[in-house]
Amino acid sequence: MKKKLLLICFTLIITSSLITGTLSTNIIQNNYKENLFTTGVSNGNLIKKFLKNNPGINKYFFKISQQLSNLIDSRITFIDINGKPLADSFDNSIIFKNFNDNIHFNIAKNGKNNYQITKSSEKRYETMEIFLSPIEINSKNIIIMISSEMSMFKEYKKNIFIAISLSILISGFLSFILSFLFLRRFINPINKLTKASEEMSNGNFSSNLIIQSHDEVEKLAKSFNKMNFKINELLTEINNKANDLQSIIDNIMQEIFVINKNGDIILINKFAKNEFYIENNIDNIYKSKKLKNFIKYISISLNENKNIKMEIEDNSKIYLLSTNFIENKIDQIIIIIEDISKIKKVEELRKNFISNASHELKTPLTIISGFIETIKLGHFKDTSQILYFIDIIDKEVVRFKALVEKILSLSRLENSLEEKASINRINTNLVFNEIVESFKISAAKKNIVIKSNFNSDIILGYFSHEWFRIIIGNLIDNAIKFNKNNGEITLSSYISENNLILKIKDTGIGMDNQILENIFIKFYRGDSSRNSKISGTGLGLSIVKTMLDNINGKIYVSSNLRQGSTFKLTIPFISKNN
Ligand code: ADP
Repeated sequence: MKKKLLLICFTLIITSSLITGTLSTNIIQNNYKENLFTTGVSNGNLIKKFLKNNPGINKYFFKISQQLSNLIDSRITFIDINGKPLADSFDNSIIFKNFNDNIHFNIAKNGKNNYQITKSSEKRYETMEIFLSPIEINSKNIIIMISSEMSMFKEYKKNIFIAISLSILISGFLSFILSFLFLRRFINPINKLTKASEEMSNGNFSSNLIIQSHDEVEKLAKSFNKMNFKINELLTEINNKANDLQSIIDNIMQEIFVINKNGDIILINKFAKNEFYIENNIDNIYKSKKLKNFIKYISISLNENKNIKMEIEDNSKIYLLSTNFIENKIDQIIIIIEDISKIKKVEELRKNFISNASHELKTPLTIISGFIETIKLGHFKDTSQILYFIDIIDKEVVRFKALVEKILSLSRLENSLEEKASINRINTNLVFNEIVESFKISAAKKNIVIKSNFNSDIILGYFSHEWFRIIIGNLIDNAIKFNKNNGEITLSSYISENNLILKIKDTGIGMDNQILENIFIKFYRGDSSRNSKISGTGLGLSIVKTMLDNINGKIYVSSNLRQGSTFKLTIPFISKNN
């Protein structure tokens, strides 16, 4: 643009200078010729007058031509009517020349003054030869030719050339400065506008143009800035809305995708990205290998323009896939994939729990009603047998009560799984020994020795004396129940980092792998427990596990059949206070 303008400027200046120069040269040349011709003619008329007044002078043509030539500073040639030169003030050799064929001579002969321009033999300058109308001297017609060198004109031409060159130089210089100023004033703001528009097209709407040219360009820049500001404002609003939408769907704890008919992902939430490892470079759901099992059904929904809702098993999880076409946007679809594995598991557990609980509760009730029926029908031998039956009924009532109590406490525990108990101080050595003491009598019945070695610390945590009594109580109870006569139970505790480690080891019947896998399932009782009629509900270890889960504790079991079992508990506490 700059170059173009400069070129146009220079071309215009050079062309106008050349035209002016040529025109002025022509005008000057014409004027000069006219002047020279007029002067020549008036000089010629004077000469004619002089000759007329001196009729005998024709004998001295040569002398007179020389004298008159000196007076008018021009060459004078006298030519007779036949074109033969009679005398010349400059060079007598001219008398060998003949003008009869010269057109200008012939025009003069016919009475009209005229001239011709000739070049000198060396071509240094031009000469104007004026042929005057004939004059009669002594009844002879004579034509006077006055020749004047146009040396002055050559000088003029030279000066004009210098003037034109100078004017080109000066105007070139001036035009350069003017163009520079023009560019600064007009082109620079336009350049700024162009740059800002380019930035705008690249998505940068923050540039603010400052142009103070006090003209249309400034107005344009101002409206450009306004437009930029508006677009920026709109974009920020759109971005904020998009961010709001993104953060809303990110906080929905389901996997959400919004896709178009081609499967291009328009919106995706955090959970969907994490669950199906959708990297940022995956922009189409068909590219995701993790969604392979879902894509088949999504395609069906898309092809048939129908919302679907179905359970899909994938990677040992159960998902609920639902597709929803967005209203007014037939080509966009919201896909919600929900991991319902936990819900399914809970549902299954609940079903099992109900069937197990009703079964477990039915057993003592059947026994009790059976014996009451026997007594009512009088199917007994004597009073001692009635007492025996009542004793059984009593035992079953106790078992029934224990079962109901455990079910209730388990349900209470599960309902309060999320809320933490209050913080309590526990003197481990003191509390644990007190619990152990309460089991000494039942252990003694099987001649079991209880050995204990507890750390002596005061710890603060989300547990209580009662909490420990239930946990340790259940484990010691099992260690006694499933122990041999004359067996041994060893209890120990120590602190590792912010965990209290508790170990309960027995020398009992032990467990095989199959039992070990199931011992924390509600109502589960090992075969040996059922067959040997060891009392139990199958809920003790479930209660222990639930209570530990409640405070992020852990329980590990190692066992060898017929050799004994060891339960290791890791109980996190808040702080130690000695
Ligand atoms: P319960 O003791 O009422 O049967 P639990 O939940 O306490 O129920 O125990 C579940 C099962 O785990 C028991 O029936 C038993 O088979 C097995 N078990 C638990 N503790 C021991 C142990 N110390 N030694 C051997 N088996 C055990």
